Amino acid sequence: AKNECAVSFPSRSSNEGLARGVVACFVAQADPTIHELEDIKTAVSEAVTNAIVHGYPEGIGMVYLKGRLFEDYLEISVQDKGCGIADVEQARQPMFTTGGAERSGMGITIMDSFMDNVRIRSTIGKGTVVVMKK
Ligand code: ATP
Ligand code: MG
Repeated sequence: AKNECAVSFPSRSSNEGLARGVVACFVAQADPTIHELEDIKTAVSEAVTNAIVHGYPEGIGMVYLKGRLFEDYLEISVQDKGCGIADVEQARQPMFTTGGAERSGMGITIMDSFMDNVRIRSTIGKGTVVVMKK
């Protein structure tokens, strides 16, 4: 990688802004368009929100955000060591949510549409990693 960064923070919703800011600063080195920057920030927000809301539904755990900048693409990963996802294929379906009425089940769909490639690995009781490329 040409450059990389890693930051971790507790799963408080006040840290969603921190994650967006860190990613914006990191990605700025690659001279993205405003449009690309918005897409990346939105995708990262969705992944971080999921880690906070679903990964650690009760209590606080750490969220790990990493960025790697390559010659022709960017890779961002968001990891939690929380409860994990029972069925990742199902979780990826548009409008699937376990979050009740206040969630629309569109976060992963947004990541898919705003990034070029999104991989999700998850183990029940161990947590979830989302790796996104653009
Ligand atoms: P929205 O993002 O629209 O507010 P949502 O978070 O429910 O709603 P997605 O972001 O698409 O929708 O996630 C779909 C489902 O996948 C979640 O409802 C949750 O069950 C599961 N999920 C996603 N990320 C995680 C995670 N980090 N840990 C545990 N479960 C997760
Ligand atoms: Mg979500």
